[in-house]
Amino acid sequence: TATNEFKRVWMITGASRGLGARMAEAALAHGDAVVATARNAADVAKRFGDHPGLLGVSLDVTDESQAARAVEAAIARFGRIDVLVNNAGFGLLGAVEEATADEVRKLYETNVFGLLNVTRATLPSMRARRSGRVLNLSSLGGHQSGPGFGLYCSTKFAVEGINQALHKELAPLGIHVTAVEPGYFRTEFLEGNSLTVSPKRIADYEGTSGQVRIAARSISLHQPGDPVKLAQAVIRLVESPKPPMRL
Ligand code: NDP
Repeated sequence: TATNEFKRVWMITGASRGLGARMAEAALAHGDAVVATARNAADVAKRFGDHPGLLGVSLDVTDESQAARAVEAAIARFGRIDVLVNNAGFGLLGAVEEATADEVRKLYETNVFGLLNVTRATLPSMRARRSGRVLNLSSLGGHQSGPGFGLYCSTKFAVEGINQALHKELAPLGIHVTAVEPGYFRTEFLEGNSLTVSPKRIADYEGTSGQVRIAARSISLHQPGDPVKLAQAVIRLVESPKPPMRL
């Protein structure tokens, strides 16, 4: 049956580019099936073309009903989801004081509520099968916050809190949950697409402006890692019989 054609079935959010796209490519190369989601499925199709193991689905993670429909589409096509990767997310650079409530709300809607929406939509089918893996994209910033990154980091602190609880709640049910905590990796995230930066506001900010500017510059000072290597580490993680709570 279609269900058994592939060793594993992945569902990856934010798979149109960046780390999500690299993880999808690695899983396909590994012979697995991938449900690759992004806000516009056409962006996934553009990136991957036709592939027997790939299903592109439109999913804005901030929308609960879209999350439910994406899970239904995945199960209709491949029979199950073995690995959920909560990857969709973006950053916000600037001092805590200067971010608007609206910017912070949008950040939390995607990075925190989005992750919860997709997780909640996926877990019932994993619990029914008493098996599954959930990978939550956190960050080094899930443990360390600092000037210029405070609000972005706070969303990843939230992800860590959710991850720890899920890891413990679901282990007895045969579902393994891990937070993936990358440092800087070469994706559009660092190129500005997914990092809302307001240079004017940063320049104008009088409080910790110097520190915030240093934080902004520190992005380019770091040697960003190769996303392909991260994707390979994730494949090894999924292969391991007892994955850790944090990678
Ligand atoms: P990219 O900007 O390269 O990709 C982000 C992905 O998220 C895109 O595919 C985008 O798809 C998707 N996305 C954004 N908002 C939404 C939404 N509301 N609903 C669905 N999809 C959405 O970023 P990265 O690949 O670098 O980042 C991926 C994850 O890794 C993020 O959670 C990020 O915080 C984390 N991370 C990244 C690091 C890095 O150095 N790159 C370091 C630490 C953590 P589309 O726009 O097509 O919908």
